[in-house]
Amino acid sequence: MNIKEFDNEYIASTYSRFPICLVSGKGSLVYDDEGKEYIDLGTGIAVNSFGISDDEWVSAVTDQLTKLQHTSNLYYSEPCALLAKVLCERTGLKKVFFSNSGAEANECAIKVARKYGEITKGEGYTTIITLKDSFHGRTLTTLAATGQDVFHKDFLPLTDGFVYAQANSIDDVKKLAGENKCCAVMFEVVQGEGGVLPLKKEFLKELEAFTKENDLLMIADEVQTGNGRTGELYGYMNFGITPDIVSTAKGLGGGLPIGATMMGEKVRDILKPSMHGSTFGGNPVCCAGALNIIERIDGKLLADVKKKSELIFSELEGAKGIKSVSGLGLMIGIECERPADEIVKECREKGVLVIKAKQKVRLLPALNIEIELLKKAINVLKEICAK
Ligand SMILES: *Cc1c(COP(=O)(O)O)cnc(C)c1O
Repeated sequence: MNIKEFDNEYIASTYSRFPICLVSGKGSLVYDDEGKEYIDLGTGIAVNSFGISDDEWVSAVTDQLTKLQHTSNLYYSEPCALLAKVLCERTGLKKVFFSNSGAEANECAIKVARKYGEITKGEGYTTIITLKDSFHGRTLTTLAATGQDVFHKDFLPLTDGFVYAQANSIDDVKKLAGENKCCAVMFEVVQGEGGVLPLKKEFLKELEAFTKENDLLMIADEVQTGNGRTGELYGYMNFGITPDIVSTAKGLGGGLPIGATMMGEKVRDILKPSMHGSTFGGNPVCCAGALNIIERIDGKLLADVKKKSELIFSELEGAKGIKSVSGLGLMIGIECERPADEIVKECREKGVLVIKAKQKVRLLPALNIEIELLKKAINVLKEICAK
């Protein structure tokens, strides 16, 4: 059986995969079909928050799996209610809509914002300002929200109603808000796919003041930055701002597909019966996994994430062959002198899995990666960058 041949023959050619087939793992170690071991610094793009096949998470998920795997949203069910309660208590947001991916979590945020604009300002107040170099998903509407032309060009016409401001330019946001009938501003506090670029705190504070004054919603896309990744439960918490809507996915389920759109006071009651829905959304198995993940992202774990982040920055900043290091917490982008593709390939050959963001090497290790493994992987990376 040749997995690579079957895959190339039968799976849509949208992915340029790395040439290895992963079969199993434990924690931050993963093995391919030839038994080769790797230290995983990518976690399936910030998804496996507590690494691979984590015991506590596995038992939370399998306990639910042996009880009931799916109910539909026609019935009440414990895991999604408990998860929503914990998310609201930990963020101060008021209500949650569950879906199955980041793009869907953003779709819901966009729907809520449009409806809010119409109710509070009138017909047509539905334009959302997003930022250049942002990434919000692959559906036609979240592609439209994504401020990068390369993602748009093959799929025109996209959904109307998005305009793009320069990141960190409050003047640009104000200008666009003046020229369009707007309802919201949507942003990632650290632009992930755009190159692991944190927004400036000053910009976010000005944005908060401006949106409050003008009754525009602040939507934080925390699909990648959420769930402990940045050293706080949600990335916005690093910046002292309070968004009206927070969307998340990736790391929330610890490896199972789940998206969540959390709605604050202003928009808690925008969604009414039958206005939105999802067959799989709030799936009990995914919610049981997510509940386990969220409950374990406590003060101690977050302090560890920050410590590991400091270690990575101090090891890599100024190291030979490294031009710059950006990011927040365990979401890190490295600009190397050599092409990122070469670094990623050589790391893989030496048993370390890293990924890319634009032309940077991107690190997204498990939140609980053992410090010794992290150090070992960073040393490999440093040696390869120095070549
Ligand atoms: C990955 C990502 C998305 C899309 O998530 P999917 O689960 O792939 O739909 C949206 N926004 C941000 C910031 C992301 O990093």
